[in-house]
Amino acid sequence: MAKLRFQALQEVISRQPKEVKFPSNKISDYYGQLVFNQSKMERYLSHGAYKSVITAIEESKSIDRKVADQVALGMKAWAIEMGVTHYCHWFHPLTDTTAEKHDAFIEFGNYGGVVENFSGELLAQQEPDASSFPSGGIRNTFEARGYTAWDVSSPAFILGNTLCIPTVFVSYTGEALDYKTPLLKALSAVDKASVEVCKYFDKNITKVTANLGCEQEYFLIDEALYQARPDLILTERTLMGHRSSKDQQLGDHYLTSIPERVKAFMKAFEIEAYKLGIPVKTRHNEVAPNQYECTPIFEEVNLANDHNQLLMDLMKRVGRQHNLRVLFHEKPFAGINGSGKHNNWSLMTNTGINLFSPGKNPKGNLQFLTFLVCVLKAVYKNQDLIRASILTAGNSERLGANEAPPAIISVFLGKKIAETLDEIVEKVSDRKMTPDEKTELKLGIGKIPEILLDNTDRNRTSPFAFTGNRFEFRAVGSSANCATSMIILNVAVADQLNKFKKLVDKLISDGIKKDEAIFQILKKYIVETKKIRFEGDNYSEEWKKEALKRGLTNITSVPESLSNYLKPESKDLLIRNGIFNERELIGRVEVEYEKYVMKIQIEARVLGDIAMNHIIPTAVKYLNTLIDNVKGLNEIFENKEFEELAGARKELIKEVSHHISSIKQKVHEMIEERKVANKIDDITEKATVYHKNVSPFLNVIRYHIDKLELTVDDEIWPLPKYRELLFTR
Ligand code: ADP
Ligand code: MG
Repeated sequence: MAKLRFQALQEVISRQPKEVKFPSNKISDYYGQLVFNQSKMERYLSHGAYKSVITAIEESKSIDRKVADQVALGMKAWAIEMGVTHYCHWFHPLTDTTAEKHDAFIEFGNYGGVVENFSGELLAQQEPDASSFPSGGIRNTFEARGYTAWDVSSPAFILGNTLCIPTVFVSYTGEALDYKTPLLKALSAVDKASVEVCKYFDKNITKVTANLGCEQEYFLIDEALYQARPDLILTERTLMGHRSSKDQQLGDHYLTSIPERVKAFMKAFEIEAYKLGIPVKTRHNEVAPNQYECTPIFEEVNLANDHNQLLMDLMKRVGRQHNLRVLFHEKPFAGINGSGKHNNWSLMTNTGINLFSPGKNPKGNLQFLTFLVCVLKAVYKNQDLIRASILTAGNSERLGANEAPPAIISVFLGKKIAETLDEIVEKVSDRKMTPDEKTELKLGIGKIPEILLDNTDRNRTSPFAFTGNRFEFRAVGSSANCATSMIILNVAVADQLNKFKKLVDKLISDGIKKDEAIFQILKKYIVETKKIRFEGDNYSEEWKKEALKRGLTNITSVPESLSNYLKPESKDLLIRNGIFNERELIGRVEVEYEKYVMKIQIEARVLGDIAMNHIIPTAVKYLNTLIDNVKGLNEIFENKEFEELAGARKELIKEVSHHISSIKQKVHEMIEERKVANKIDDITEKATVYHKNVSPFLNVIRYHIDKLELTVDDEIWPLPKYRELLFTR
C-alpha cells in the first residue's frame, strides 16, 4: 500500500482516547474563570468605574478616558494574578478567522529595567498594521494604519498568557474593516425600531435585544489521515474520493453513542469553553459518519458571535492535542451531508418578553403577531440579500444538495400559525369593523398560546423556520462568521418595523383606532408575503417548480448572488440605516468576490497538482502492470487462446488509459481557463468567469479520478479513501 496512506491507517488504529478530567464536578465552579466579567469588574474596579462600565454596556455607549484608565488598571491587576504577560486586541477582519496581535505589558521604567504597564489608552485603542487584511480597495496598502477599538459589550478574556480584548477594526479614514462594526450597528437598528413598535403595546419597553444560539456542525478527521490528504490540508475539503459503499444510508450515526476518542475531545474543549464563559450545552453525533454538533445556550447576538468564533478556534486547537482535525467546511465530503450553523434568532425586551413568544393575553399576542409578520415581510422583500449573506464558495457546495436547505429562501411557520394568519386576512376588513367582529378576532388571537403549546411540528428542510419561540435560519454555512447573516437579518427586520410603524401611525392619524390600524397593516403584509411561506418539503423537485411559479428566486451561483448586495434596494436598505457607507459596502462586496475567486483558484490548483503528481503516476504504474500482464500472456499462449484470456485486460487497459488521458486533457484546459480569467481586471467579471468556466472542471476531473480509484490496485492508491477517512477510528 502507498506508504503514507498505510502508515496513517496504522497510526489511527493504534490511537487511544486521551484521559480528560473535569476541573470540578460542578461546571459553575470554573465557568467564566478566564473572563473579566461583571463580578470581576466589581471586585477589581472602583465603584464609580464599575458603574460607568455597566451603564456603557447597557446603553451601548463608550466610556471616557478616565474610566478607561481605571478599567485598564483593574484588568491588568487581575490578568497578572492569572499569570498573564501579554495583551492583545482581538478582532474579526474580513477573513475566515479572528486576528490578534500580542504586546507584552512591559515598558521601560524610570530607573532602568522594565515595569508592567497597561493604560486606558492601550485598552481602548491599538494600531495594528492593516495592510495585509482584505479591505476591497478601501485602504490602499501605502496607508498601513488601521485602528482597533474596545467593544465594551463583549468582555475581555484570557487565552494562554494573553489578555484578549474584543475590538472593532476600522481603517485610518474611519471605514469598518471588520464584521463586528456593522453588526453592532445592525443590532442597534433593530433595538431602536423594535422599541418604537413595542410602544404600541407596552410603554415600559425601552430596550430590545437580539439573541443568537448557533448550532455548530463539524467533521472530525484523524490527524494522520488528514496529513495524507493534501486537498484537506489546503482546502479543508476532499476534492476527490469515491463514495464509500456504506456511509450514511443506514442512519446509524445520528444521535448514536459518541466514540470514546471523540468524547474525550469534546470534554476537553468544553472545559476550555466553560472557562471562557461560553455556555456550550448540547453535543451529539450528526447524520454523516464522523460528523458532530456542538450547541451553546443562546446569548445576545454580538456576544454569541464572539463566542462562536472563539469556540471554533478552541475546537481546532484542542483537536490537535487529541490528534483530530476539525473541519468546518460546509461540504468536506461529496455525497454525504454537509455542515451548517443553524442560527436560532429571537428578539427579547428589557421587560423579559420574547417577542416571538405569544403573550398571555390578546394584547401580547397582537405584539407577537406584529413581529412575526414583520419578519415574514422582511425576509420576503430581502430574500436575495439574505441569500447573498450566506452563499459562499463552500456553502454553495452544500445548499441545494439534497440534505441541506435549498438556494430558494422560504419561511416555514407551522400549520397553526399559518391558520391564524389566514384568519386575520379573512376577518379583518378594510372598512371600520363592528364591535362584534373585533371581539371575534380577539378571541381567535387569544387562543394562540394554547395552540402553540401543542404545536410541535418542525420542518427540517426549511431554510428559515419558525420554531415556536424563535426563528431558525438554517442555511448559514458551518464555517461562516454569523455576523454576515445577522447584519442583514437584523437590519432588514429593523427597516421593516420602521415601515410598519409609519403605516400604522398614518392610519391612526386618519382616525382609526390603534388595534384596528395594526390589524389592517398586518393583513396587508400577510397577503403580500403569501409567496414566501412554504410548509412542504424544501428538498423536493416540485418545490423548485412551485417556487419558480411564485416568482421566488433560486440562485446557486456565488457571484450572481453577491451582486444582490449592490442592487439599488439593497444599497438603500444598508446605507439609509447607517450600516455601511457606500465605500464600505462596495469594498466589502469586493472582498467577497475576491475570496470566491481565490477559493476556486486554490481548489483548482490543488486538484491539478494532485491529479498530475499523485493520480496519473499511480494509474500509469497500474497500467504498466496490466500491459506487462498482457505481454506475458502473449508469450505463453497462442492466438485464439490469447485473445480469449487477454480480452478483459485489454478493455481495462483502454479504460484506465482513457481516464488518464481525460484527466491530463482536462487539467490542461482548466489551467488555460484560469489564465484567461486571471487576466480580467474587474473582480465581478473575474468571479463570474471563475464560476462559469473554471469551477465546472473541479467536478469533471474528479469524476475521472474517482473512476480510477475504483479500478487501480488498492495497494498502490496514494490517498486515504472515503471509507478510511470516515470509518477508521
Ligand atoms: P434543535 O432541536 O434545533 O437541534 P438545539 O437544542 O440543538 O435545537 O439548539 C437550539 C438552539 O436554539 C440553542 O442554542 C438554544 O439556546 C437556542 N434557543 C432556544 N431558545 C431561543 C431563543 N428564544 N432565541 C434564540 N435562541 C434560542
Ligand atoms: Mg441541534
